[in-house]
Amino acid sequence: MNISWKNEVEKRKDALLKDTCNLIMIKSVLDDQANSVAAPFGEGINQALEFMLDLGNNSGFETKNIEGYAGHIQCGSGEELIGVLGHIDVVPEGDGWSTDPYGAEILEGKIYGRGAIDDKGPTMAAFYGMKIIKELGLPLSKRVRLIIGADEESQWRCVDRYFQVEEMPTMGFAPDADFPIINAEKGICDMELVFQNIGNDISPLKAFQAGRRFNMVPDLATATVKVDQPEEVIKNYKQYLDETKLHGEATYNGDDVSFTLEGLSAHGMEPDKGKNAGIFLANFLTTLNLKGNAGEFLAFITKYFYKDSRGRTLGLNYEDKQTGPLTINVGKINFSSDSARVGLNLRYPVTYDFDKGLNHLEEMIREKGIVVDLKTHARPHYVNAEHPLIQTLQEVYTRQTGETATLLSTGGGTYARSLNAGVAFGALFPGRPELAHQKDEYIDIEDLLKATALYAEAIYELAK
Ligand SMILES: [Zn+2]
Repeated sequence: MNISWKNEVEKRKDALLKDTCNLIMIKSVLDDQANSVAAPFGEGINQALEFMLDLGNNSGFETKNIEGYAGHIQCGSGEELIGVLGHIDVVPEGDGWSTDPYGAEILEGKIYGRGAIDDKGPTMAAFYGMKIIKELGLPLSKRVRLIIGADEESQWRCVDRYFQVEEMPTMGFAPDADFPIINAEKGICDMELVFQNIGNDISPLKAFQAGRRFNMVPDLATATVKVDQPEEVIKNYKQYLDETKLHGEATYNGDDVSFTLEGLSAHGMEPDKGKNAGIFLANFLTTLNLKGNAGEFLAFITKYFYKDSRGRTLGLNYEDKQTGPLTINVGKINFSSDSARVGLNLRYPVTYDFDKGLNHLEEMIREKGIVVDLKTHARPHYVNAEHPLIQTLQEVYTRQTGETATLLSTGGGTYARSLNAGVAFGALFPGRPELAHQKDEYIDIEDLLKATALYAEAIYELAK
């Protein structure tokens, strides 16, 4: 059978654009105060979920709402289940928009609005892919479910709940990242190194603080220190800032010197893209040779993390060809009279032995009186290049775009990892700017149509 998928999309273009715009116009931001059983994430999100399920019903699909956490739209029949996973919740719009963030304005071939590319446009593209297959009356030997999550941007309570009560697809894809295909995702772990011997001595370091989130490079650090020769120290600090090309200040209040240092923020998945204010300040403060716990705390940070985001000095460095190097972001540093902690965001390759690495780390820091407090941990996610899912998606992508469907990896986590055998497949095409979570987010209309044709054929090939 020879189907022109692009023509089929073109025939439905007006409806596709109208439905996409209407979905974007629903402000589906998480409402923390929500306490309704039917709408656990608030009215906006609930409305967006219902909007999608209504579209499904009106087109004659089976639909199901899973307690407002997620829903699905299903077609086909058979033993096996193909899953397509998108989400209709969005992050808050933020400031600085040049259009109404919920206006879904069309300008120069682009639809503007929060959620346009993440993930309302792509979710709608997948829905229209299913709709085309249904309207053409193409026979399927498997079931297909468009699973619609409602809490992707926050805690993934949507997929957690969904897969507690619903079937896990045999295989599937998530249109919630980049084309061509992302099949490898690093393991991600947040942990705190807790210094146990704090509070036993009178510390010259009164306070040290940098960063608030594990997965961000801190852009500001502050410290208060009692020093013997404040003028000398302030002079040295200025020189240090000059050498490192960083901004900051040191002021003497008659008792202590207060330091600030401005770094450069970046996502924790590649700490080298930023400048860690906390590490740079700790590195300077070690030159003061402070006594006791404070000195050990600062020396530890400098020794193991200064200019080392790969865990080399800790002996954790590792790299594989699927996912690249292990990375460590020092996202939080806190020192006070009764507590000292360093918060790490560790991202490790798919073939890394995490448990062995953790053991090694724990053993080597135990003698320094430091213990690991594991906060969160998501194992790596990987689908082998030989898997039929990948073979099929690659064939479809190359047939329609004429481009090679290179397999990509990421240090971030995509929605695909909530499927047992799932990859991220679009909807951002190579070379397009990454606008998810930013102001003036948009989806290019030509790209939306291209993605719809890709999803239609991919779903058909996977489920026929
Ligand atoms: Zn998303």
